[in-house]
Amino acid sequence: DVPIITVDGPSGVGKGTLSQALAQHFGWTLLDSGAIYRVLALSILNKGLENAPVKQLVETAKALNVEFKSHESSIEVYLDGVNVTKAVRQESTGIAASKIATIAEVRDALLQRQRNFAIKPGLVADGRDMGTVVFPNASVKLFIDASTQARADRRIYQLKQAGAPCNPEEVLQDIIERDKRDRNRAVAPLIAAVDALIIDTTHLTITEVYETALKFIMN
Ligand code: C5P
Repeated sequence: DVPIITVDGPSGVGKGTLSQALAQHFGWTLLDSGAIYRVLALSILNKGLENAPVKQLVETAKALNVEFKSHESSIEVYLDGVNVTKAVRQESTGIAASKIATIAEVRDALLQRQRNFAIKPGLVADGRDMGTVVFPNASVKLFIDASTQARADRRIYQLKQAGAPCNPEEVLQDIIERDKRDRNRAVAPLIAAVDALIIDTTHLTITEVYETALKFIMN
């Protein structure tokens, strides 16, 4: 049995940073499930299938040719052999991903692909439904949360650091909308697994979140 740590939570909460740190600490594989939804959204947009019937979206999901390549400390994402790392991170891609992520058949089509990441010596799985749907038998489950405003502030800070254009009002609005979609959808809505440790990071630093998580995992 492969040990699995699931890290779920809303967007912009720092799950990615925590998951990466944990994966590195244990020397385990990292699954960024959001990136899979994002790459699928890109593929659908590239093919002009935004309004295609579900059957065609499912076929696209099953045939999705996505690769993750570790590159020093970062991970690069490839779609059909093309480096899409930048496009994948764009807010517009995240929004498109959250739309296709509401379709049950599409989620099912991505299930096995995600489970295939569970290889020895272990897996850290980052997403929305890792502990509830994809890996219900995971050894340790974390649910990372923070206020909407705190998440918007962190995102604004990141954008400014990167020298990217940033409209604070828009950033907050995008987070509110994505939350609404992720929490209210009929399939795999964003909720903490009953056996998850909930960490509210609103007033915590990255280090404090990491230490809280590590302490819980080691117990
Ligand atoms: O986490 P990230 O922002 O990259 O995910 C993009 C979108 O993909 C989320 O807003 C969510 O709707 C969807 N997603 C999901 N289930 C996951 C991971 C992501 O529905 N396990």
